[in-house]
Amino acid sequence: MPEADPRSGELAANLAAVRRRLADACQAAGRPADDVTLVVVTKTYPAADVVRLAALGVTDVGENRDQEAAPKAEQAAAAGATPRWHFIGQLQRNKCRSVVRYAHMVHSVDSVRLVQALSRAAVSHAEQTGRGELDVLVQVSLDGDPSRGGAVPGEGPDPDVALDRVLAGAASAEGLALRGLMAVAPLDWAPDRAFATLAALAERARETYPQATVLSAGMSGDVEQAIRYGATHVRLGSAVLGPRQYFR
Ligand SMILES: *Cc1c(COP(=O)(O)O)cnc(C)c1O
Repeated sequence: MPEADPRSGELAANLAAVRRRLADACQAAGRPADDVTLVVVTKTYPAADVVRLAALGVTDVGENRDQEAAPKAEQAAAAGATPRWHFIGQLQRNKCRSVVRYAHMVHSVDSVRLVQALSRAAVSHAEQTGRGELDVLVQVSLDGDPSRGGAVPGEGPDPDVALDRVLAGAASAEGLALRGLMAVAPLDWAPDRAFATLAALAERARETYPQATVLSAGMSGDVEQAIRYGATHVRLGSAVLGPRQYFR
């Protein structure tokens, strides 16, 4: 099948290069290679690519918009591909009911009100399907500007997005399991500074929530630095699928 399908060949080559990069970064950081989970971000690419990736051994995929992810997960499943779906984008409360139907982990929980909406959706989904708790990460805004998403460390003006309150909410919410933290490096910060800051926040969070062992950090351009600072989940899109084009 891969020989007959040039796109599969291209994805296989990109994946091999990415896996080498991750292995090298783990080795440089003195960490075992199986410490790091590769989440392939498939946004803007079709369900057919998810099917190809699953055939190439990809177990985890990420999406940032429910409108795109929900039908894609359904189409991929219909074609026999059922990877774990990670929701990594800003999440509106009215989308929670949809997201809990396919998501294995939500990386972008960043307000107390979102925790409450996601909890309600997860509880009702669990009642209908018998599924267990939904894994969640609290997204942190490293530069304190929540406009691009993320809970704000320290004493911010808005208690709804205060990191400590979001963590406490996620840890105690019914239907949710707090698993760790996530961040995107601010555009104007050196990646090392961003991931060092995130690592310190994660260490502090684990003093109260020892179960919060997941650190979702690192994208196609900065994954080496993220792994050096302890990332357990890296989110790579363009390095595997190619540069994205936004026509919509
Ligand atoms: C798109 C996206 C990624 C992947 O970005 P690449 O630079 O293509 O690897 C990772 N994380 C989030 C939150 C994203 O939205």
